[in-house]
Amino acid sequence: MTQSVTDSERIVILGAGVAGLRVAQRLGRRLKPSEAQIMLIDENDYHQFLYRIHEVCNLEYEDKEIIVPLSRILSKRVDFRQASVQNIDTEEKIVTTDKGDIPYDICVIALGSHVTYFGIEGLEENSMTLTSFEAAKSIRARIQELFEETSETGRPPKILIGGGGFTGVELAGELSDYLPILYERHNLESSSICVSIVEALPTILTGWNEKQVLMSQKVLRNRGVELLLDDPVSRVSKNRVEMKSGKIYEPDLFVWTGGVRGDPACGLDFQLKGRRISIDEYCRAEGYEDIYVAGDSACAVDAGSRRPMPPTAHVAMVQGDLVGDNIVASLRGSPMKKYVYKRAGEIVTLGKTNAMGDLFGFLFSGAFAKFMKKVVHWWYLHSIGGFSFLLENM
Ligand SMILES: Cc1cc2nc3c(=O)[nH]c(=O)nc-3n(C[C@H](O)[C@H](O)[C@H](O)COP(=O)(O)OP(=O)(O)OC[C@H]3O[C@@H](n4cnc5c(N)ncnc54)[C@H](O)[C@@H]3O)c2cc1C
Repeated sequence: MTQSVTDSERIVILGAGVAGLRVAQRLGRRLKPSEAQIMLIDENDYHQFLYRIHEVCNLEYEDKEIIVPLSRILSKRVDFRQASVQNIDTEEKIVTTDKGDIPYDICVIALGSHVTYFGIEGLEENSMTLTSFEAAKSIRARIQELFEETSETGRPPKILIGGGGFTGVELAGELSDYLPILYERHNLESSSICVSIVEALPTILTGWNEKQVLMSQKVLRNRGVELLLDDPVSRVSKNRVEMKSGKIYEPDLFVWTGGVRGDPACGLDFQLKGRRISIDEYCRAEGYEDIYVAGDSACAVDAGSRRPMPPTAHVAMVQGDLVGDNIVASLRGSPMKKYVYKRAGEIVTLGKTNAMGDLFGFLFSGAFAKFMKKVVHWWYLHSIGGFSFLLENM
């Protein structure tokens, strides 16, 4: 099905993360002003390297390593609006934001993922989350505050991470570097354990390569990370985490990284799968020809494994490019491309000097994996800003 070409086709892209930015950049390059107006909306005026935000919870970092102002990477073809998306009216074709209503002809939903609490009593009110640059700064500030308070208690604060997925593991890795330094700064006797992870399943990084999982567990334990596995969180109250087994932990800080779902602002009208918007083979919301979905907001099922595709930066990039191309194709009446999932793999950092990787079937670990994570970041910088942008930000 093709869309009629008008010189005022309004394309509104929601979210300037990995997927949304790529859609905007692609359309900006490929569509003439006579073909469409392109608007990009995000609540922040910067693009976040989300896959690096756990680094904010370590020693020194520079903002430019984690975020980049959108004005530096967007062309004038794209009209950027800083606003928070609240609703999408698919009948009237209007996006409601905190700064007013925005009509669209074609809408792209790329709002990323939001934390889910699985209905666990008290969890939302009594935990912090690692979902954005601002959230990471709040965790770091809270940890520093807890260490300031140790002059009264005389003991190091206990930090518990809920969820042993990629986010929880990378955060634990950073803290295993950072907390011993804080112990020393505050003259605290440190125990061998600096941070703990509670995980409902029998291993961390469930679903990943078994060898890498076991090696990651070993590295983390050697770094003083306690792994409390095979026991789901059942209830949380202030400084108290109750487990299904009956065990009770009393952390000073509980960070929940246990699950994500699509953005609540746009879920209502759509068919959901695994708490994300179900998409067709062209990355359009199931049942809609004028709404595309890319990245963590979208849920497609991998034809091979029949499992939902993971919410990763690589999937977001590929879908973002494809959505850009398919919008151009639909406007020009040419055939659209189908999305096919190809797994690239993952690299999980375990602190400043260690990582575990699995890319295109190659397994690697240690300093080399850490270096490869940097290479992937440089490649990403180049892809969004070109060579001079890469050189400025290396
Ligand atoms: C700590 C952490 C580590 C990660 N590490 C890795 C990794 O190593 N490798 C990997 O492949 N993936 C990793 N990921 C996942 C990866 O970052 C995501 O899969 C990817 O960013 C998804 O891209 P996206 O465009 O769908 O969403 P995002 O990149 O999250 O972008 C969503 C955008 O929407 C904006 N937004 C959200 N809600 C609203 C609203 N209501 N109104 C306006 N704007 C809104 C946000 O500000 C954001 O800019 C990690 C994620 C986290 C949190």
